[in-house]
Amino acid sequence: GIEEYRKKTPASFEFSKVSRNVMPGGVTANIKFFEPYPVIMKKGKGAYLTDLDGNEYVDYLLSYGALMTGHGHPKVMEAIRNQMEEEGTLLFGTPHHLEVEMGKKIQQLYPGMERLRYTNSGTEATLLSIRMAYAFTEKYKIAKFEGHYHGGYNQVLLSVNPPLNEAGPAKNPNSIVESKGVEPYNIEHTIILPFNDLEATTEILTKHKDEIAAVILEPVQGGFIPAEQDFMEGLRAVTKKLGILLIFDEVKTGFRLGLGGAQKVYGVTPDITALGKVVGGGFPVGIVGGSKEIMDISAPTAASDVFDNSQSKRSGAKDVLFHSGTYNGHPTILAAGLATIEVLEQEIDNVFETANQLKSGIRELFLQKGINVQTIGMGSIFNFIITEKEKIQSYRDLQESEFGLRKDIDYHLLARGIYNKPLNRYSLATVHGEKEVDRTLNALKKTLNSLF
Ligand code: PMP
Repeated sequence: GIEEYRKKTPASFEFSKVSRNVMPGGVTANIKFFEPYPVIMKKGKGAYLTDLDGNEYVDYLLSYGALMTGHGHPKVMEAIRNQMEEEGTLLFGTPHHLEVEMGKKIQQLYPGMERLRYTNSGTEATLLSIRMAYAFTEKYKIAKFEGHYHGGYNQVLLSVNPPLNEAGPAKNPNSIVESKGVEPYNIEHTIILPFNDLEATTEILTKHKDEIAAVILEPVQGGFIPAEQDFMEGLRAVTKKLGILLIFDEVKTGFRLGLGGAQKVYGVTPDITALGKVVGGGFPVGIVGGSKEIMDISAPTAASDVFDNSQSKRSGAKDVLFHSGTYNGHPTILAAGLATIEVLEQEIDNVFETANQLKSGIRELFLQKGINVQTIGMGSIFNFIITEKEKIQSYRDLQESEFGLRKDIDYHLLARGIYNKPLNRYSLATVHGEKEVDRTLNALKKTLNSLF
């Protein structure tokens, strides 16, 4: 399908020749690159994107899941405009009414987030949650699961996509660096666990319980491989028993599995939650929350109130967890986020219904060709996996699926006006409906007919 893609996108190719001379690889996040060059969009409206050649696409990338009301939703746009006209372009450098308004909304939807702080991205949210765990437990290692992504910093850039020949035993995975520039220190300080294997996880945690501050996980790996219910409950129980905090990275699952995220769906409350993406309404955001007891470690005290390099007084600050950020709680972002939540409160069930229609349509089309496919995922995110396996429960299961055919199909779909990054999961928004599902299934049908 790459040839079909090339034929439709000459302007993107021309663009990539120029962009490579500006940004390494022509992109400003490695994930945005794909072979032979990424498509370049110029316009977004509702469920649709238009590229430089004027091709129109149904968007299922939705900026890696961040947009759940589509592009330029009128209610979100109105909220942004009103906030900016009233209050200007940036913060006052003081606490702001929208921080409290959003905070109350989050406390309602995520009752475990008794106190919370804002950050500028999901990456910063998980980073802060780990510092919180270190501060609370006074232990300085974390455990994460193989295949789970928590952002782009050194401490968690381990065993996200490890090569299987280096990954070690399934029940006791090696800690493998994901990037150049990750100092070896992290291999020792980030312990890797096998997802959905409670017995092996318990064994590793028990062995290292005096060193591990927290277990961090994506309740649904990559947004589409769910933790088993028993696994989740078992993990909650064992971490509690061992004095290890449990951190849910709900940057992807927050709002997308349901307004209350994975913790509502599973009925399991973590000690700390990290949110991001959807709750920024299309802008950069992160939120970290947890019990009062944990979060209040970051509450400034009289002794720590001057922590500013324009003054040299720093006394007492070491008793408080440092958290700062010029843009934290940016009002325009919170206005967009609150408007997004309002739309979702009315329409989220439709999104789930549309996702289900699309999933069953995809299964049907593959079945007609006699190809085994699974549509896995919950709520508004799913992926379709071509596999002979009965169940996909981990990174290693996923590695055994048929990537070549899936990738080829994805390029054909691109050429037929269905946008996603090849091999990526599908994220849906309130703006997807029957029309988009029909268009997508039609494109898939033509693709499968051309291949088989
Ligand atoms: N955690 C998870 C589960 C994510 O999916 C992502 C983003 N893909 C992040 C953290 C990092 O968020 P951000 O890109 O906003 O830094």
